[in-house]
Amino acid sequence: MNSERPSAYPGASVTLRGLCGSPGISMGPAIVWSRAAPRRHWRRVDQHEVEFEIQRFHDAVRDGSERIRTVIAAASPRARAETAILDAYLLMLGDLALRQDVEQKIRFERKSCEWAVSATIQSYAKQLEETADPYLRERRHDVEFIGDLLLRALGGGREERPGIEIDRPSILVAHDLSPADMAAFNHEFVLGIATERGTRIGHTAIIARALEIPAIVGTVELLNNVNQGDEVIIDGFRARVIVRPTKEQSERAVQQAQWHRKRKDRLKQSVALPVAMACGTPITVRANVELAAEVPLAIHRGAQGVGLVRTEFLFIDRSSLPSEQEQYETYREIVQSAAPQMVTLRTFDIGGDKFVSSLCMPPELNPALGLRAIRLGLFHPEILETQLTAMVRASAHGPVRILLPMVSCLSELRDVKQLLRSVIETVDRDGHARAEEIPLGVMVEVPSAVVLADRFAEESDFLSLGTNDLIQYVFAVDRTNRSLAYLASAFDPSILRLVRAASQAALRHDKPLSVCGEMASDPLGAILLVGLGIRELSMEGGAVAEIKECLRRVFHQEAEQVALDCMNLDTAEQVEQHVARSFAPRLADLLQGDYISDKA
Ligand code: PEP
Ligand code: MG
Repeated sequence: MNSERPSAYPGASVTLRGLCGSPGISMGPAIVWSRAAPRRHWRRVDQHEVEFEIQRFHDAVRDGSERIRTVIAAASPRARAETAILDAYLLMLGDLALRQDVEQKIRFERKSCEWAVSATIQSYAKQLEETADPYLRERRHDVEFIGDLLLRALGGGREERPGIEIDRPSILVAHDLSPADMAAFNHEFVLGIATERGTRIGHTAIIARALEIPAIVGTVELLNNVNQGDEVIIDGFRARVIVRPTKEQSERAVQQAQWHRKRKDRLKQSVALPVAMACGTPITVRANVELAAEVPLAIHRGAQGVGLVRTEFLFIDRSSLPSEQEQYETYREIVQSAAPQMVTLRTFDIGGDKFVSSLCMPPELNPALGLRAIRLGLFHPEILETQLTAMVRASAHGPVRILLPMVSCLSELRDVKQLLRSVIETVDRDGHARAEEIPLGVMVEVPSAVVLADRFAEESDFLSLGTNDLIQYVFAVDRTNRSLAYLASAFDPSILRLVRAASQAALRHDKPLSVCGEMASDPLGAILLVGLGIRELSMEGGAVAEIKECLRRVFHQEAEQVALDCMNLDTAEQVEQHVARSFAPRLADLLQGDYISDKA
C-alpha cells in the first residue's frame, strides 16, 4: 500500500481527466494501492524438497485458477465476451509447457518454486519482447500477469506479494491493475476504479465493464494527487476523477448516481419497442461487434441486427492466418445468433495500427495512409478470397451482406466484385449452400469515396459511413492522437456537409446508407445524422437502447431543420451548442455528462 505520496494540491479539490473504462458514477474513500517488489524466495532446494516444491507449484496453479474463476463467476452472465481474456488465462495456467518448464527447473536445476516460476516467466516474456511483431510483444504482459498471479498464490498473499485488502466500500486507485490484481480483490467493496495506465480496450477496463464497476483508466497524474482515504468521485461518463470533491460536487455526484440508476431501469423497459421517431419515421438501429459472443447481448439490448462485424479481430494476436473453416464457423455463429436480422460482415481492416504477424508487412512511415484494409486484401488476394469464401458460406444461415473497408477508388470495388463472383462460383461448384443474394457494400470513410459517393452507390448494393476514419482523413489528425483530438470533431460543419452529400447520393440511387462510426452512438450526433438523411445507424451495443429512446422523442422534420442550420454554422462548438439547445432539454433524463449542465 502506498499512503505517503505527496499530493500536488493537498486539501484542495482536483479534477483529473482520463479515459472512460467503464460507465457509471461512484464515490467513496480512496484505497491507494501500489505493487511492492516481492520478497524473493530464490534458493537452491535439496533433493528431498523437490517433490514438495513441485506440489507447491500445482497448488499455486489451482489457487490462481480459482481466483480467476471467482472473477468470471462475479461478472454478469451476459458479459461473457468481456471476460474471454480470463478464460485465456485459465488455459495459460493449465498449459503443459509451463508446467514442464517449471518442473524441470525445480527437478534438475534445483530451483525453489518461486525461482523456477520467475525464471520461466521471464524467459517467455523475453522471447515475446524480442519478436518483431508488436502484438506478440504486447502478449508479454499477459505472461507476466500469469507469473504475478502464481507468485502471489505461492506467497499465500499479503506477506509476499501484497494483495489488495479492501474491507469496506472504497474507490481503488492504482498505477495499473493486472487481471491478477483484479482477481485478487474483494469486488463487493470496490465502488469504482481509477488507474494511471490503461485504455478502453485494456484488461482493467474490460473486466471493470464485465463487473459493472465504474472505472477511469489512463488518468494523468493520478497517484500524485490522491492520498490514502481521500474522498474520490469516479465519473465514468465524463471520464473524470474528482479528488477531495467540494460539497456541491459531492451532491451532484449523488444526484447523478441516482439518475443513472433510474435511467438504466427506464431504458430496460423500452428495449422491445420498435424504433421510430416521434412522427413515425422508422430508423434502423444495429450493433457493431467484434466477437460472436457479443451478438446475443446486442440483440437483447434491442439491436435490429449487426451493422458492422470487425473481422480483423480473428486475424490479430496469432502467428498464423485463420483458415476458411475457422472463419466460416465464426461467421456462422454470428449470423445464427442474429437471424432473422441482417449481419454486415466487413472484410478485414488490417494494417495501419492493426498488425498481423503472419503477413510480414514492411514498416511504413504513415501506416494509416498505407497498405491497409481493402488495399491489403487486394495485395494478398488469396487471403481475401479465403475470407470471402467463408462469408459466402455463412450466408446459408441467415441474411448476410459483405462490406469493404477503406475503399478509395472505384477500381478497388470492381476488383473485389470480380473476386466475389469467382468465389461464389467455387462455393457452388464445391456444393456448399449459400444465400441467393449477398449484397456487397462500401465503407465511405476516405474523402475520395464521399466525393464519388454517387458512383459508389451506383456500383454497389449499399454504403456505410465510417465517421471515425472519415474524420481522421478529413482533418489529417491521427485518430489515436489524444492531444490533437480537439481539432477533429464529428460536429464540425465540414463533416456534416460530407454526411449530407453521401446521404443524398445514396438516396438518388435508392441504396441504403448506414453510419457505423462512433458519431452514431452519441445521442446528439445520432439526431444530427438522422436530420442529414441517414436512416440506418450502427453502434456499440451498449448505446443501442439509449439512441433508440432519444430518436423516439424527436420529429424528423425538426432534426432535419436543425441539421441544415448546423451545416451553415462556422465551428464544431457552435454546432454542438445549437443541437444541444434544440434537443437536450427533452433528453435531460437520458443525456450523460456535459450536456446536462453545461450545454442545455
Ligand atoms: C469508422 O472508421 O468509422 C469505422 C466504423 O471503422 P473502424 O472504427 O473499424 O475503422
Ligand atoms: Mg474505419
